[in-house]
Amino acid sequence: MVSRVIPVENFDLVIFGGTGDLARRKILPGLFRRFCAGQMPPEARVIGAARADMDSAGYRDFVAEAVREFGGDRACEDGTLAGFLERMHYVPIDARGENGWRELVALIRPDVVHAFYFSVAPGLFGDLAERLNVHGLTNDASRIVVEKPFGRDLEKARALNRDLAAYFDESQIYRIDHYLGKETVQNLMAVRFGNMLFEPLWNSQYVDHIQITVAETVGVGGRGEYYDKSGAMRDMVQNHLMQLLCLIAMEPPSKFDPDAVRDEKLKVIRALDPMDPHHIVRGQYDAGDDGPDYRTAVGDPRSRTESYIAMKVGVSNWRWVGTPFYLRTGKRLKARSSEITVVFKALNHSIFGEQEDHRNVLSIRLQPNEGITLGVTIKEPGPGGMRLIDVPLDMSFADAIGENGDQTDAYERLIMDVIRGNQTLFMRGDEVEAAWAWTDPIIQGWEARGDVPKVYESGSEGPVDAVQLLARDTRVWRKVAP
Ligand code: NAD
Repeated sequence: MVSRVIPVENFDLVIFGGTGDLARRKILPGLFRRFCAGQMPPEARVIGAARADMDSAGYRDFVAEAVREFGGDRACEDGTLAGFLERMHYVPIDARGENGWRELVALIRPDVVHAFYFSVAPGLFGDLAERLNVHGLTNDASRIVVEKPFGRDLEKARALNRDLAAYFDESQIYRIDHYLGKETVQNLMAVRFGNMLFEPLWNSQYVDHIQITVAETVGVGGRGEYYDKSGAMRDMVQNHLMQLLCLIAMEPPSKFDPDAVRDEKLKVIRALDPMDPHHIVRGQYDAGDDGPDYRTAVGDPRSRTESYIAMKVGVSNWRWVGTPFYLRTGKRLKARSSEITVVFKALNHSIFGEQEDHRNVLSIRLQPNEGITLGVTIKEPGPGGMRLIDVPLDMSFADAIGENGDQTDAYERLIMDVIRGNQTLFMRGDEVEAAWAWTDPIIQGWEARGDVPKVYESGSEGPVDAVQLLARDTRVWRKVAP
């Protein structure tokens, strides 16, 4: 299957923080891959803007290095890389001062799309928005892209939204959650709303429960100090897991349009039950072969921040009341695996007599091996009576799309959506605030009670209490497997 690449409009993309880790590992290599795919118009330009004192030639060396390390196979084709590097420019800039702004204004062309990627600490978002305004760069053609974390509680998120709204309309603000850029996550919407099969069954009458797992094998690594201030709830649940939950639980939007989709997601967040503390398990990983225990890794022997969380979440609306959503995410687990699983109910009557409990299970795999599998029940082949077995109907994308298919990384897809002006896969300000409004009381409850996370074995499937959380409901977690 040949993927269609539709070139986007001509643009000037300014990456504030263009020398940072995110730019190096994701943004620049992602842009390079779009360039290789022929999606960048011939005149498009990328302008790095950061504190480091270098010129455009120095930045091209930096970009070349980043692309060679993270850009994939095409990076080795020198002609292609050289063509990409020609589009790179650099301005040393101070987000909080005057340094560099006149040079930046002089570089930006008036008649193209202007995208400003705020790949800097959130503390600088307000300064950047203000400076862009002072220097006349906040016109109708401009868009800004902001990265998580979008606040650390409702109050901070509101303040950030206010800072940006002072100079930009909501239609110009692109809040990235890169999970929404994943191929499978979009396929989840295609499967739900592009087929007759699933939607009639997509409710508490037919769905027993839903599991959302994002498991990592790595620990906090060098990010210990940062991570210890947020923990799994702020770092993963408030954004990625809640976004996945919304896409699974939302009503069909009237059309695939940014506000129609985001209105439906917002309604889901507003329908979440307040959390019962007994329905949450928090954990910290122990020392293992791969390194020290969590508290040692973050340098605080009394840290009460969770590196693992599991929760049973209720959605109180007509569609979902009675069907629990079990969410879990953690570090130093057995395997790196992200998966959404929809477990359908057992048949209310089996014509085959006493058989094992056979259920349809739809599993949507985000990583690794993106794809969707539907478990169906069939007869075990061969003689010997009617014995039933479960087999997977596999919709693995690598097979369906082919080796050369469009395996667009989340970042490159999202950046191109910014240029196209399509906000469907970006979080709206009210969604982010609603998510914090739900998580804030949970975190405040832990702080008030002095809740201490349970220690779990490094390389395991998480704390034993998390197993109990489902066992109480006579259910089991899916295995955390690669
Ligand atoms: P980083 O520390 O590696 O880079 C920060 C960049 O900001 C540098 O280019 C630096 O020169 C620039 N900068 C700092 N102060 C400045 C100032 N006063 N004026 C102009 N430029 C200034 O950070 P990072 O890891 O690239 O992260 C950038 C943002 O993306 C952060 O908000 C982070 O939370 C978020 N984020 C990063 C990752 C990741 O994988 N690195 C993932 C998700 C979100």
